[in-house]
Amino acid sequence: MPELPEVETIARGLHARVRGKRIAKVHIAWQRTVDARSLPLSELVGKQITGVGRIGKYVAIQLSGGFTLAVHLRMTGQLLVGSLERRYDSSGTGDRKHERARITFADASVLAFFDARKFGRMRLLHGDVVAQLGVGRDPLDPQLTADDLKEMLAGRRTPTKVWLLDQHRLSGIGNIYASEALFYAGIRPRRAAGKLTAIERSALLKSLRRVLRRAIRFGGSSLNDYVDSEGKQGGFQKQFAVYGRLGLPCLQCRGPVRRIVLAQRSTFYCSTCQR
Ligand SMILES: [Zn+2]
Repeated sequence: MPELPEVETIARGLHARVRGKRIAKVHIAWQRTVDARSLPLSELVGKQITGVGRIGKYVAIQLSGGFTLAVHLRMTGQLLVGSLERRYDSSGTGDRKHERARITFADASVLAFFDARKFGRMRLLHGDVVAQLGVGRDPLDPQLTADDLKEMLAGRRTPTKVWLLDQHRLSGIGNIYASEALFYAGIRPRRAAGKLTAIERSALLKSLRRVLRRAIRFGGSSLNDYVDSEGKQGGFQKQFAVYGRLGLPCLQCRGPVRRIVLAQRSTFYCSTCQR
């Protein structure tokens, strides 16, 4: 599932390619792609895209009139820009039979939502989008401090790794980047979130930002279906320190990377470097 760096990469690509376009037509091929709480997507017709950003793991397509189309890609969702005449890219993605929704612009170009497994959702909102989506603080928000983290973590008995995955607290972090950030912070995934020291909380925030920013520079991590708005894969999967590296030597101490399961998710760490 795309996490913050992948969604950020997609949003930046879309911003460059669809900003300023006016929506002429909306076609929904599979109705459940539209979230039950969404305003009717027919509202989109005539609106202009003013920009594309990211809210947690949502791609946030901002529209004239104060509307936002929030798209959650879940497992296999892809947002691709193209024209109806040709395929969206050359990498084999953009298979027409997986097209769930299509926005046609006044200039005849299209933005299509492809989703093989159908877990992805689109939701049109108006007003305070962050509150309506129930998304927590963004780890890359410069206003977020280690003191904020202290307040958020106080009394939490949940393993830190599991806490990081809760989108209502910090948003955008998933299985990959939680493992990676905890490695760089030197914190074992199972440690109770509320028991971290002040130094560890600072290290965690710093590591999260470092890992997320680096991953954005690499265009995200492509393990399954993730591609950017041009259908290109990311490159950060080759930079993982612990994720998916069971039994391989730790980059710092050369000891074997270990794997445990927390909240049904594979979790990778080094028992020497993380305490
Ligand atoms: Zn190590």
